[in-house]
Amino acid sequence: MKQISIPDTTKASLDRIAAVNKKLNAIIYLDREKVLKEAEGTRRNVGGIATRGIPIAIKDNICVKDEPTTCASRILKGFKPPYDATVIRKLKNAGFITVGKANMDEFAFGSSCETSCYGPTRNPWNLEMIPGGSSGGSAAAVAAGEVSMALGSDTGGSVRQPAALCGIVGMKPTYGRVSRYGLIAFASSLDQIGPLTANVTDCAALLNVISGHDEMDSTSADLPVPDFTKSLVKNAKKLKIGVPKEYFPEGGIDKEVEKAISKSKDVLKSSGAEIVDISLPNTEYALSCYYIIAPAEASSNLARFDGDQYGLREDAKGTIEMHTKTRTAGFGDEAKRRILLGTYSLSSGYYKAYYLKAMKVRTLIKNDFLQAFKVCDVILTATSPTAAFKIGEKINDPLSMYLSDIFTIPANLAGIPGISVPCGFTKSGLPVGMQFLAKPFDEETLIRTAYTFEQNTDFHKKKPNL
Ligand code: GLN
Repeated sequence: MKQISIPDTTKASLDRIAAVNKKLNAIIYLDREKVLKEAEGTRRNVGGIATRGIPIAIKDNICVKDEPTTCASRILKGFKPPYDATVIRKLKNAGFITVGKANMDEFAFGSSCETSCYGPTRNPWNLEMIPGGSSGGSAAAVAAGEVSMALGSDTGGSVRQPAALCGIVGMKPTYGRVSRYGLIAFASSLDQIGPLTANVTDCAALLNVISGHDEMDSTSADLPVPDFTKSLVKNAKKLKIGVPKEYFPEGGIDKEVEKAISKSKDVLKSSGAEIVDISLPNTEYALSCYYIIAPAEASSNLARFDGDQYGLREDAKGTIEMHTKTRTAGFGDEAKRRILLGTYSLSSGYYKAYYLKAMKVRTLIKNDFLQAFKVCDVILTATSPTAAFKIGEKINDPLSMYLSDIFTIPANLAGIPGISVPCGFTKSGLPVGMQFLAKPFDEETLIRTAYTFEQNTDFHKKKPNL
């Protein structure tokens, strides 16, 4: 087998970016010379470790020391973090080459990657379509072969949904599995950093590198991290897969997506899995619950962006005027909508009626899952109710945009891990994704299930023609 040297891999990645990124707008910041220099340095350190020298793109809300980190927002223009996020430190220690920052919806608010201040990212399978969001740049970059892997963040589906829409693998680990230190917070009780990769094997390898307790993040779990690559076994025997009826509502899921999921169930059955019907009765409240809790946390987290410390600062006579002008000019419409929604539901007159109630519903949703996992090992659903939609189609209709995450949001509310794997294509050639969910800290079962499915299909081998 031909050995590829590390600078060659990096160069191949840089060349591919040069060839296709104008069409995609997936990578929004890249210092080619710095990347090549880093790659040279890495070659000197090669120690036979498989992860060495892999080019990886980083979502623009994860801090990379001395590189612009803007959350694709005007308000963070010019901000360069003075430190690396824990995941970045871990990647660098393992010899990965961070190749640029990936586009995203502003502050990770969105499902289409259209609200970025750098303009939308396009889906490599069809340039008129959205790549999904908010980690749309990360997903498109991997799908188009610009990089081997990418990191994204998932607060309500932002890793899994774009992975599904771009035909790649995306995982949201259990809340607490991966340190959030250096991830610019959207909703701190829901955010997790996760891998976007071309296949399940890469996903397990990347999860190995980024997982683990971190004293810089008190919500990271102090638990041993298994070697996830050991779960790359093609065997679904004795695996009980639950299919929740609430995730297949009449008229609420595209026919072609439903068909792909139904065929995928058969693939798993013939690999030895048992399919059982389950119920998650509080599913119907998940979206409303999320759109109280997530904006509430976001409004609080975004209060720090006021021109005093980071990024944009508008000229004004006094502090209050400066804050107002900076925030008015710096935030886009969706960010403003979230800040308003969140401030409203946290205000003293409405806190009990909205926020507190949503927190109670959140517990009910979590309990649904814990009940379900008494009768099954893993839950199977579609990742998103539709394949990729047209750029511009939903941008002025927030509710229909929010519905894109109806199947992914419950896992964030419950804190459980989820993975999306390619499971088919629509007639017009757009990828369809299937989601598996598992018990807290049982990413191993997710990987085993996803790997078994992948090894029995070839959807992950198809590449977009760019
Ligand atoms: N699309 C959802 C939202 O807009 C989820 C985003 C995310 O996971 N970051 O909030």
